[in-house]
Amino acid sequence: MNTDLEELYQAVILDHSRRPRNFGEIPGAIRVHGDNPSCGDEIDLDVKFGADGAVEDIKFKGQGCAISQASASLMTGKLKGRSRADAGEMMRAFHDLVTGIETDAPRELGDLRLLQGVRKFPQRVKCAMLAWRAFEQAMENGESGASVSTEEPK
Ligand code: ZN
Repeated sequence: MNTDLEELYQAVILDHSRRPRNFGEIPGAIRVHGDNPSCGDEIDLDVKFGADGAVEDIKFKGQGCAISQASASLMTGKLKGRSRADAGEMMRAFHDLVTGIETDAPRELGDLRLLQGVRKFPQRVKCAMLAWRAFEQAMENGESGASVSTEEPK
């Protein structure tokens, strides 16, 4: 990757971390707290599913490193309005992207592909995945008050 591109990627990530999209709360939504103790990242993800299971609305609040907050911001933008199946597919594609399983990122991921560079840094993969783990929990559990941590269960 050339330097100009790297700078562009960093600019997009910084922009999302400084001015996160879909930042806030959704009254009455499913809330999942996500915690990445190794870096100090935290997010509260609110998801409202429609009657058909689609992601009707999604917002987050959080604090932590640029990667964790940019990933959450980009993720909420991508998942809003998606069907349950599409959202699950996107979650798997992003996981494969940042863990290096998939080398050719699907186009649907859009700017999320900019986070591909974290695959070289296992600690940063946890930052990038934090919001997605919270979303996974919201899809599986469908209950408010759930929480998820990037630490492996002992
Ligand atoms: Zn982090």
